[in-house]
Amino acid sequence: MLVFFGYGCSSFERSEREKIKQQHVSLEEIKRLYRETKLYLPPLLANPLPLYPWDKTDRHGLRRITLEDFRCRGNKQNLMYLEKGHAYFDCRGKLSHSLPVRQGKEFIYPHLIELLNFIQDSLGKKVYVIQGHCCPQHYGYANRSKSFPCNKYMVGAACDFYVASLEYEPEVGLKSLAQYYSPSAMLSSLVVYKNAYIKAQVHDGSYHALLHPYLSVQILYDPSLQEGVSLDWKGAYNSCWQW
Ligand SMILES: [Zn+2]
Repeated sequence: MLVFFGYGCSSFERSEREKIKQQHVSLEEIKRLYRETKLYLPPLLANPLPLYPWDKTDRHGLRRITLEDFRCRGNKQNLMYLEKGHAYFDCRGKLSHSLPVRQGKEFIYPHLIELLNFIQDSLGKKVYVIQGHCCPQHYGYANRSKSFPCNKYMVGAACDFYVASLEYEPEVGLKSLAQYYSPSAMLSSLVVYKNAYIKAQVHDGSYHALLHPYLSVQILYDPSLQEGVSLDWKGAYNSCWQW
């Protein structure tokens, strides 16, 4: 009985609320045309993502050589070794330090990068950098000899590389290097180019534990910076940021 009484009261309240609502409702006619709007919203356009240097490809679709290809190849998983009472540890590569720094930025000689991109572009084959920048710790670990306290790899002026599918024909890479300076130039295995911009060499792969030869290039004079490569012990050993 009580349930029916409660239900009757609630339905009465609802109907009363509807009556009050109807008394206060006012309708207004919408006075605008179909699709008429006061605020114009331009169509949304997708903003393309910026291209990073390593996203850029040449006419063969090959990724261009950038600073990233020159990161130190040190690896903390390389085992420590003892020699004459001294323990040698490898660095952690890009996880522990930067490239050489110049004027507050990471730096590799631009002419070196330009040369590798030229080879890649002219041959239409990928160039792989085996060793670019070599920090003092990795250099000490990889070269047990102390006869050369610093070298051009430490300051970003040298690299070792090979050309994909031409691993056993390094002379093709050398010829391509020469053609950067003169279309008719032919180079032998050891080259100091006559205007002394570069020094290029072919090596057997034993140093990098490769089964095929590889090429090395050192910059002697950078035409884009118009300066020769200077090498000093202090500069080489304090050339990069540590983290
Ligand atoms: Zn290193």
